[in-house]
Parts: sequence; C-alpha cells; structure tokens
Amino acid sequence: MPTDATADRDDPTGIEKRDVVVVGGGAAGLAAALFCARYGLDTLVFDRGPSAIRRAYLVENYLGLPAVTPEEFLAIGREQVTDAGASVVEDCVEEVVRDGSEGLRVETADGRAVSAGSIVAASAYDDEYLPEGVDPTGADEEGRIDRGLYAAGWLTGGPHQVLACAGHGTRVGKAVVADRRRADGWWDAVADYWDWSVPEGRYDTDEWHEEVDAWLADTRPENVSDEHFEEVREAVKRERLDFQTTDGERDDRVAAGRATLRDHLRWPDGR
Ligand SMILES: Cc1cc2nc3c(=O)[nH]c(=O)nc-3n(C[C@H](O)[C@H](O)[C@H](O)COP(=O)(O)OP(=O)(O)OC[C@H]3O[C@@H](n4cnc5c(N)ncnc54)[C@H](O)[C@@H]3O)c2cc1C
Repeated sequence: MPTDATADRDDPTGIEKRDVVVVGGGAAGLAAALFCARYGLDTLVFDRGPSAIRRAYLVENYLGLPAVTPEEFLAIGREQVTDAGASVVEDCVEEVVRDGSEGLRVETADGRAVSAGSIVAASAYDDEYLPEGVDPTGADEEGRIDRGLYAAGWLTGGPHQVLACAGHGTRVGKAVVADRRRADGWWDAVADYWDWSVPEGRYDTDEWHEEVDAWLADTRPENVSDEHFEEVREAVKRERLDFQTTDGERDDRVAAGRATLRDHLRWPDGR
C-alpha cells in the first residue's frame, strides 16, 4: 500500500524521509517517478549533472511528440511528474549510503540528506555516487540491483534512445511499487501494478465482481490467511474501481494536459 512519508520529512535528526528518491530527471528517472508518484508514493527527484538528453539538438523519434527540443521534453515531463505529486529538485546526488541494515540515504551537493526505502539511479553517465562495488549494469530487467536500490535507463547499459529509456524507467517504477506490495504480503499476480482508466460503469457490475473474485481465488497462494486475503481483495477492487473516470473528469484532465503542452511547446514564430 502507498505509505506517506510526509509526516517524517522534518525529522529532528535533519534527515528527510521519502518513500522513493530518484537520482536523475531524464526520461528514465521521470518515467520511474511518474509511476511511483501516481501510485501514491512520496517521491523526490534530484536532477543536476552530466546529461545525455541535453546533448541532443532535437528529439524527433519520441512516439506522440513528433519533434521537440530536449528542453521542451524535460519541461513537459517535469510538470507531469510534479502534477502527479512528486517533487523535482535541481541538486546533484554525491553519495548513496546504506542507513543501517535496511534503509538507504542520499547526500547531495547542496547539503541535503534524504533517507528512502527505494532509490532509483537514473543518471546516465554518472555512477560515482553509488556504494562501492555496486554495478548498475548488473541490474535485472526491472532495474533491481540490491535491497531497495534500482537502476534505470542508459545507466544500466540498456538500449539508447529517449523512448527506450522512458520505457525502462516505467518498468522500474512498476517494480518499485510491486516490490513494496510483495513486502506487504501481496502475491505476484496482484503485486503487479497497473495504471489506467476506464469509463464509469465499466467495472462494479456483478459480472466484474465475480471475475475478480475468481481471479483472486485462482492466484491465491496456500499460505495466505483468510483475513489477509480479504484485505488484499478489498484493496485490489478499490484500486481498480478508482480507474473508473466520468466524462467530466476525463474532459478536465484532457484540458489540463493540453494546457501543459501549450505552456511548454513553442512554435518557431514564438506562438
Ligand atoms: C548527442 C546526442 C544526441 C541524441 N539524440 C537523440 C535523439 O534525437 N533521440 C533519442 O531518442 N535519443 C537521443 N539521444 C540518446 C538519449 O539522449 C538517451 O538515450 C537518453 O536521454 C537516456 O535517458 P536517461 O534518462 O537514461 O538519461 P538522461 O536523459 O541523460 O538523464 C539523466 C539525468 O540525470 C541527471 N544526473 C546525472 N548525474 C546526477 C546526479 N549525480 N545527481 C542528480 N542528477 C544527476 C542529469 O542531469 C540528467 O538530467 C542522444 C544522445 C546524445 C549524446
């Protein structure tokens, strides 16, 4: 379940607490942050330092955005992530340290110390801040390196291109969510996190409840208690019912999305 680290941000030790810290606000980092934040995780992105995308002159192979400058692409992405509830801070992570046996902490050039249950390294060229011996190219397909530490995008040695790195960041963001759900006792079939919307009325029918109940019963591992099964069943249904969106909500969200694009995309004549 999403946790809320907000209450702990002003810890008297001076160490902020977040659920997720993302190092790098390029395509991979912003995509990972988007999925974590939309799920409800308190997500902070640090972004400053050597960048691949800022070396590009023009990006004209990102599906859905036929030709944009890197600055436009990053500004749109940042706003989308911020609107989803994440924070993006221009600061450079200098170190990631293990904080006791479980936690992780980042330290930044501007003197911030932030502990987080999950850290996503998405910094393309820079892996100097990672703990000694940690190799981001050894991450699994969903970016897992080791105990709460993930890597995304070009840093992993995966395929180049902005679209490919955004796709990988998405997989990593979903893995962060799924791993937290597994830690809460959700089994694999339900730990997998979907983020989508459907028209109001599509779900919440008798047939839909029967289908979901049958799927949950089929996938339930033997060692799950009745009480926990009920908790997960309720949470899974609530999550999917929240996908339902009214026509009015859809119109409002589309209008907000178009306003974001209008704010950041400039025609050559300045329009
Ligand atoms: C010259 C050139 C032109 C290119 N043109 C294209 C193109 O036209 N189309 C295309 O699809 N791909 C293009 N690419 C490839 C594309 O830029 C990369 O594949 C993609 O941007 C990688 O995404 P990423 O998120 O992994 O890294 P990046 O986009 O580089 O993002 C990494 C981010 O991490 C930040 N960062 C680094 N270190 C730290 C730190 N310690 N703390 C905090 N933040 C940090 C950086 O500032 C940066 O914003 C081009 C690459 C180059 C070099």
